Amino acid sequence: MAKIEKRYDIVIVGTGCAGLFCALSLPRNKKILCISKDALDGSDSFLAQGGICMLRDEEDYEPFFEDTMRAGHYENRKESVDIMIRSSQEIIKDLIGYGVDFDMENGELAFTREGAHSKSRILFHADVTGREITGTLLERVQELKNVTLLEHTTMVDWVCQENVCYGIVAADIDGKKFTIEADVTVLACGGLGGVYEHSTNFRHIRGDALALALYHNVELENVDYVQIHPTTLYSEMSGRSFLISESVRGEGAILLDKNGNRFTDELQPRDVVSQAIWDQMEKDGTKYVWLSLAPIPQEEILNHFPNIYQHCLEAGFDILKEPIPVVPAQHYFMGGIHVDSMSRTTMEQLYAVGETSCNGVHGRNRLASNSLLESLVFAKRAAKDIASKSDYKKAENFDSLVDLENYEDLDTIKHQYKAMVLAEIERERKLREEGK
Ligand SMILES: Cc1cc2nc3c(=O)[nH]c(=O)nc-3n(C[C@H](O)[C@H](O)[C@H](O)COP(=O)(O)OP(=O)(O)OC[C@H]3O[C@@H](n4cnc5c(N)ncnc54)[C@H](O)[C@@H]3O)c2cc1C
Repeated sequence: MAKIEKRYDIVIVGTGCAGLFCALSLPRNKKILCISKDALDGSDSFLAQGGICMLRDEEDYEPFFEDTMRAGHYENRKESVDIMIRSSQEIIKDLIGYGVDFDMENGELAFTREGAHSKSRILFHADVTGREITGTLLERVQELKNVTLLEHTTMVDWVCQENVCYGIVAADIDGKKFTIEADVTVLACGGLGGVYEHSTNFRHIRGDALALALYHNVELENVDYVQIHPTTLYSEMSGRSFLISESVRGEGAILLDKNGNRFTDELQPRDVVSQAIWDQMEKDGTKYVWLSLAPIPQEEILNHFPNIYQHCLEAGFDILKEPIPVVPAQHYFMGGIHVDSMSRTTMEQLYAVGETSCNGVHGRNRLASNSLLESLVFAKRAAKDIASKSDYKKAENFDSLVDLENYEDLDTIKHQYKAMVLAEIERERKLREEGK
């Protein structure tokens, strides 16, 4: 285990792409601790298959903006959408500079397309784009002398007083609790799929930061906006659902009912396609529909989707020869801890980035491949804002703010957090239904 100190300039909770990119974007004279509940590579960022969006040229600005807004049912924060799109080329340049390898075509970056995109503007690395990006970022962070990485360490609470955050309470793999004092705490804890039975997310990613926000009265936004992915491989087994990336449909795969007939336009926004699948399942009395990759040339399948090909083969399906059973599952969280355009929460000295946060980019529904980009853009902005200040408040008597005995029973706390998150989603959903 890495040697840790009692005090850091910045503690970053989460080592997905948002947390790692924030660490890389902070000045090298800042002492930073990054913690991860699971192994350092146990994040949803590693699972991303499809790719990451980039504004191709000035002509693409309007269509990119419109595609993002339309997918989000025009509930997106326009300022955030503009920032994301305008920053995309700089972020991709950063990634390439860090050593990220995107697929190329005739010596130029190759672009693919996914559902609800009017143009091909998605960069990818076969069907393991998340692993390529996040693995590279992790390697770069591991080279930094000012950053300590600590895995299997869980944030269980914040240390805060009068709406100022002074650090966190954490537990190590053996359940031993300790505090970390920091000028700034950055929440990069990912989404909340782990609280759902069927989700494409890692099981340990369970919206912990949301429960803490509820407990400490930090503003949340759109908590009921939970995205369902239309196509995950149907399985009778429990555990994480395997995603069949949207770019498979982007490249031509079609959805079929139990009689082998096409029943919807596969390139509509995710919520619309998911609803069409559920309707079809009900009509057919089935637990899944079929996805056929027959329209995609076999060479393209093997080159672009080797991971999906291999996984399906291991599950007993050869996607080169037969359709596969697919079903919608929880996938992404558009809502989160409310942040402004610099990723500041409503608590002082507390930032939120990536899927944990809600800067309004996605509105009611995320456009495919916008989330890696959004995570990176707003993590860099958080770093810029953090670095621009020096007058951080210090707790007068930090130790007196925490009683570690309150965190004896971690199992109960875990269940309480899950219950709080689910109850809040339901409460928001009802309020919205009633038009409040
Ligand atoms: C299967 C799959 C495919 C996807 N494909 C794409 C795609 O092609 N393109 C795209 O743009 N997006 C895609 N996404 C979405 C995208 O991957 C995520 O939105 C993004 O990676 C979120 O990054 P993050 O850094 O916010 O969180 P994550 O990468 O989820 O990282 C969360 C981190 O927080 C840690 N953590 C959580 N709780 C605690 C706690 N209490 N204490 C300490 N640490 C904690 C975790 O251990 C982890 O390190 C996909 C998602 C999935 C699941």
